[in-house]
Amino acid sequence: MRVLRIIKERFAQEKPLQGLRMAACLHVTSETANLAITLKEGGADVVLCASNPLSTQDDVAAALVGEYGIPTFSIKGEDNNTYYQHLSAVLDHRPQYTMDDGADLVSMLHRDRSDLLSNVVGGTEETTTGVIRLNAMAADNALKYPIIAVNEAETKHFFDNRYGTGQSTLDGITRATNILWAGRRVVVGGYGWCGRGVASRARGMGAHVIVTEVNAVRALEAVMDGFTVMTGLEAAKVGEVFITVTGGLHTISGDHMAVMSDGAIIANSGHFNVEIDIPALEAMAVSHREVKPYVEEYTTTDGRRLYLLGEGRLINLAAAEGHPSAVMDMSFANQALSVEYLVKNHGNMDPGVYVVPVDTDQEVGRLKLASMGIAIDSLTANQQRYQESWEEGT
Ligand code: SAH
Repeated sequence: MRVLRIIKERFAQEKPLQGLRMAACLHVTSETANLAITLKEGGADVVLCASNPLSTQDDVAAALVGEYGIPTFSIKGEDNNTYYQHLSAVLDHRPQYTMDDGADLVSMLHRDRSDLLSNVVGGTEETTTGVIRLNAMAADNALKYPIIAVNEAETKHFFDNRYGTGQSTLDGITRATNILWAGRRVVVGGYGWCGRGVASRARGMGAHVIVTEVNAVRALEAVMDGFTVMTGLEAAKVGEVFITVTGGLHTISGDHMAVMSDGAIIANSGHFNVEIDIPALEAMAVSHREVKPYVEEYTTTDGRRLYLLGEGRLINLAAAEGHPSAVMDMSFANQALSVEYLVKNHGNMDPGVYVVPVDTDQEVGRLKLASMGIAIDSLTANQQRYQESWEEGT
């Protein structure tokens, strides 16, 4: 994570976060550890909890506590109660800044711990669904402090959501099942940044990819990118592997599962465990067993076996290691620089959802290219003038 390392070295010198109490709710992975260490080097007093019950790397959590002195509240496979207790524990730290992935921490803070809100001056949000929730809070005038939507940086979603999710989702499904992708009919629910990545990587492995969408323009884009597009119900009849990445509720419903073939594999790489209607699956099953870690077999009344992966939670983080560090480097560089920006500017920012400053985005892109040893051109003064002029057409 070379970009983050450059930021860490500067933070260690300049201490821009000196003395700030921060609560971070992220997937507790080695990439997140690098971010937490960077914040600490910058002078912050950071505590960390997991943003998903299945995504913690326990050895990383232990090392953060034992070797780096960063209190970390997370255990891989924690139950729902423990998950929320851990969120509550980081709020007990009385944070001035929050760093969230999915907006669970911000939601708990506003709903159950609003007495702590007066301490909080700013926050950041990592992911698409978190940003959607925050926008809903802002529209209701419920959001009480400024939050920078790191996900909206181009150096975040162009790469993390697309190439990160694309690769790590296939990795998670492969590790859990060891299926052969070549020749398989793979249905990708949703053609946002994550869906585009999953669809293109599945195609790269030789799968026949079918995309389902509710947005006409995105559906059209999928068609012109060369994928087959059909309704969810039609896709359910022909698909063999189903991957949801919509960020929405019940992308795969009981109606879909009722017509899937024997042996269908169902996984989610989108938002929480609600994209698949798991209660509907349980209701139609006569028996249920764990075949191996992250693979549960449900046998239906008509004798079909459907395989649910990773309890319907993010398969890329549950059964694999999440996105590779090369892509998290840019996401977390945006996180670190956004916190620094908030420290300097929060006094002029009203409660609301903010985009990452364009300069920060460009800077992350420049540093990433430099770290890859790639040089690019810049416009000459003449070219610059031409671009800014509206008079010259030829
Ligand atoms: N909290 C929700 C929201 C989806 S998480 C949930 O758990 O279901 C999606 C986010 O995970 C992405 O924005 C991505 O930046 C992050 N992520 C992916 N791989 C990661 C890794 N290796 N370490 C830390 N975060 C990662």
